[in-house]
Amino acid sequence: MFSEKEEFKKAFSRKLQAELGVYVENATEFDIYRALGSLVQDKIGEGWLQTQQQYKDKKEKQVYYFSMEFLMGRLLGNNLLNLQVLEMVEEGLSDYGFSLSRIEDQEHDAGLGNGGLGRLAACFLDSLASLELPGHGCGLRYRYGMFDQRFMNGYQVELPDNWLSDQFIWEVRRPEEAIEVKFGGHVSTANNGSGELAFRYKNYNTLRAVPYDVPVVGYNNEVVNTLRLWSAEPTEKDILTVAKQQNDYTNMLNHQRSLESISDFLYPDDSTDEGKTLRLKQEYFLVSSGVQSAVRQFEQLELPWSSFSNQVALHINDTHPALVIPELMRILLDEKELGWEEAWEVTQSTVSYTNHTTLSEALETWPVDLVRNLLPRIFMIIEEMNERFCQSLWKTYPGDFDRIASLAIIADGQVKMAHLSIVGSHSINGVAKLHTEILKKREMKTFFETFPNRFTNKTNGITHRRWLMHANRPLSQLISDHIGEQWKDHPEQLTDLLAKQEDPSLLDSLYDVKQQNKESFANWVHKETGIMVDSSSIFDVHIKRLHGYKRQLLNALHIMHLYNEIKSGHARNMVPRTFFFGAKAAPGYHFAKKVIKLINRISDVVNNDTDVNEQLNVVFLENYSVSMAERIIPAANISEQISTASKEASGTGNMKLMMNGALTIGTLDGANIEINEVVGDNNMYTFGLRSNEILRYYKEGGYSSKEVYDTDERIRHTLDQLIHYSPFSKGETEFKDLYDALLTYNDEFFVLKDFASYVEAQQQIDDDYKQTREWCRKSLINIAHSGKFSSDQTIQSYASDIWRLQQVKTLR
Ligand SMILES: *Cc1c(COP(=O)(O)O)cnc(C)c1O
Repeated sequence: MFSEKEEFKKAFSRKLQAELGVYVENATEFDIYRALGSLVQDKIGEGWLQTQQQYKDKKEKQVYYFSMEFLMGRLLGNNLLNLQVLEMVEEGLSDYGFSLSRIEDQEHDAGLGNGGLGRLAACFLDSLASLELPGHGCGLRYRYGMFDQRFMNGYQVELPDNWLSDQFIWEVRRPEEAIEVKFGGHVSTANNGSGELAFRYKNYNTLRAVPYDVPVVGYNNEVVNTLRLWSAEPTEKDILTVAKQQNDYTNMLNHQRSLESISDFLYPDDSTDEGKTLRLKQEYFLVSSGVQSAVRQFEQLELPWSSFSNQVALHINDTHPALVIPELMRILLDEKELGWEEAWEVTQSTVSYTNHTTLSEALETWPVDLVRNLLPRIFMIIEEMNERFCQSLWKTYPGDFDRIASLAIIADGQVKMAHLSIVGSHSINGVAKLHTEILKKREMKTFFETFPNRFTNKTNGITHRRWLMHANRPLSQLISDHIGEQWKDHPEQLTDLLAKQEDPSLLDSLYDVKQQNKESFANWVHKETGIMVDSSSIFDVHIKRLHGYKRQLLNALHIMHLYNEIKSGHARNMVPRTFFFGAKAAPGYHFAKKVIKLINRISDVVNNDTDVNEQLNVVFLENYSVSMAERIIPAANISEQISTASKEASGTGNMKLMMNGALTIGTLDGANIEINEVVGDNNMYTFGLRSNEILRYYKEGGYSSKEVYDTDERIRHTLDQLIHYSPFSKGETEFKDLYDALLTYNDEFFVLKDFASYVEAQQQIDDDYKQTREWCRKSLINIAHSGKFSSDQTIQSYASDIWRLQQVKTLR
């Protein structure tokens, strides 16, 4: 199609004229974006068709990664990179007077996820395609993605993210592959004549699910996999059925709207289980269309059902798609007329499950009545699963009622989705070593005793293509200048940098690259916010969802403390520091929103006080997203990973920042522990209580935040500033809730308990940063070890241990 510059320019100007009706001279940046996207999509098309044909012809086993969230970000730059035409296109556009990075800025983020879980799914798709593995994403095409965050008077307000408004150029609508999903109604049983029960499902509603396919381009190979996103698009018949059922033919538009609403919006809370009916409908809508579609593809191969799990793997990203299990059972039992045992064998050997959290408030449960009414046949199957599972437990543990009750899928009037997922899967994995150990020894101990072989660890990862090669081209170039290009295909070879850790020219260049990134980022910040930041200050970055356990409040209190020290003339001779925050709070999460307000207030006070603003600045960036992360991470010196130990299952932001040469200040939690294992104590700043200490406090009590407050003058002073007259409170009472959470309610997240050791670790950073050469060496060592956290490593391990996928090698 195009493989060198002049050819590209010709094809490109033709495209502009034919599709948009403009000459290059008159084109806007948005025109350029659309024409370029369309040209790239054409180029992708060839490999896409070929890849899918090959999978079918060669009967390759394929994995479908089911996830309610795919936080994809922008695709243009990534696709150009993976097609290996980025530099050529950049030069071609520059001949026409356009800058590729400005063209990339025309693209709206595909923000179909809340945070880490959805971003993980996106990194996994990139790795699957790049490793030439047959694996696809299965998700929902939300009409509105993650909300747009604005600050008004320092408080978060949420605006709808109308990401489809100027067209998502990468999707292909495939109405011919639509699926009918059934809800409601009831099930009757009848004898089928040969002594077996037949289930007849009647009076249900139907809803057409239309797939929109997005190509997932592999790096430097011909592979193009698919992210299939389902959209609720009711037919006339679907609408009439609702009208008939409700005996209301006057409000057809309402019926239509209510059916369509199923794929309207992403739930913007990733920390608590909301339990809303619409959410359950979304989950089943995703699951039913995805499983039916996978079954349909399998049937084209004309193989016996016993081969299903040799051809298909269904993976569930957390429990949100757990209905995959009863849905596959339903299809096999009712439509394909398999017996229970046989259907169960197929289902269980096909499905695998990733657990993402042990936070009890986030564990999904659904009231029995709700599931029964909305999905009567699915509920019957879950009941039967539960019945059989409890019977088998009874055989192993006769009389042990407590154990059986604690493992049951249905208990206390609730369907427990984690239990459903464990019982129906052949593999259950945690997302970091510590997290998996906590699952096995505590949260899921009895399940682990029952199914010891099903539990494994798969530490999360990130794609080094987006997060290093694309986001940080100066650093990528520097790395290649010193160790060659092989690390791009084999990121574990970044460890070759270790041999050069004493090379002064490399260390100096590393410093220069970081400075260059900080300056470009500072320019962007100035343009966006009007705030001038000093690029010789330490860039200290805290970016992630706003949550109590992630402890942005600890960071904020520390900044208040630094301010107090400088004001009172007790400050050390500190290196100037700029604290950056990026974080969205769930709209109903009152505490989190107060923390946002507090940080914005601190920013206001500190940045405008000439006694301190030469040494201290605070910037809270609005609307944290993937594309913003790509800007800020290359410029970071410090990565804040300060969760309450035991609470952060893995984290992936920690990996992205490390890969870009930031040093971590962190608790020994999640994957921080594994980062610490590879870089060592000299190249990371760990502090605070350990997970076992925290878990002991939760179990046995014994922590008093009031005691810490009474004994630590620094804490007493800052906390009092929240409620008494101070520059931070301005005499208002709006931070009383934060004060109460820390003192009246005994500081659930051990913020005060860890304060002193956090201050100490921060002082160590200040001392160490002054030793520039040595600091750069620490940074280099972090980069060198980051290949271990490439999602390529993670996906290799999923593919061989869980999915048993084969690489396809014959495309090239
Ligand atoms: C990586 C990423 C996350 C996850 O960050 P954690 O620090 O692991 O919680 C969240 N949001 C976005 C936009 C990301 O890119």
